[in-house]
Amino acid sequence: MSNNIAGKVVVITGASSGMGEAAARHLSAQGAAVVLGARRIERLTALVDEITAAGGKALAVQTDVTDLTQVQRLVDAAVATFGRVDVLVNNAGIMPLSPLERLKIDEWDRMIDVNLRGVLYGIAAALPHMQEQKSGHIINLSSVAGHKLFGGSAVYSATKFGVRALSEGLRMEVKADNIRTTIISPGAVKTELLDHISETDVQQANRDYVGQVGVPAESFARVVAFAISQPEELDINEILFRPTSQE
Ligand code: NDP
Repeated sequence: MSNNIAGKVVVITGASSGMGEAAARHLSAQGAAVVLGARRIERLTALVDEITAAGGKALAVQTDVTDLTQVQRLVDAAVATFGRVDVLVNNAGIMPLSPLERLKIDEWDRMIDVNLRGVLYGIAAALPHMQEQKSGHIINLSSVAGHKLFGGSAVYSATKFGVRALSEGLRMEVKADNIRTTIISPGAVKTELLDHISETDVQQANRDYVGQVGVPAESFARVVAFAISQPEELDINEILFRPTSQE
């Protein structure tokens, strides 16, 4: 019986580490061709080599999701190489948390650029192909922080609440084109996400917490595979998952 993943062409942004990398490995092991975007091309190339050596199909395209042309090049490369784009996982994201009063304005701008604008650019790049195919699936990464606030998360949460809003708007508009949309809101997952928090007190508090309760990135890989593997007539609109011991 088909798992409804094998043979699909899946584009994943932010595939150079953490959850994107784990999803690429897992989905390729289930038979998907994976097209990997991120800025650190050497990491993507190493992952492509690993997947190819294991008998899978993979392609790396250096991509900064804050640049529409680069995101279009990523999605177009999937279509040029594998003939179509079945799934886009808008996974790239950053989380430089800090209290608003510290006025880390550059970090606010970067979160808006990567977490919101990057997702919109992914949609802009994939939608024309999916509308032409009359099928597709766009999966956007929100967060538990897209449902509730925690210390220093005001701007990050604003971007992740925003991802949920634009995903629901997208769902309402594209269902007629047979395009599925899924919002995935992870809880604490052990990845490199905390490495880029510049405020050392905030970083340490988050490291302590995620170190204690966080689950491995493979947890996300199983969740994203679950959403994709459903029969095409069923759209898993939203998934929120947490480590069992998370607040
Ligand atoms: P990682 O830091 O391990 O991975 C983030 C990925 O995003 C990297 O591959 C990075 O690649 C990529 N990225 C960052 N900026 C850009 C950019 N401008 N252009 C292209 N790619 C970019 O973190 P996670 O795996 O944890 O994060 C994945 C997603 O999950 C994010 O959207 C995050 O907000 C979300 N999330 C994470 C949670 C967690 O607990 N870990 C909880 C809830 C949500 P590169 O630097 O090579 O460009």
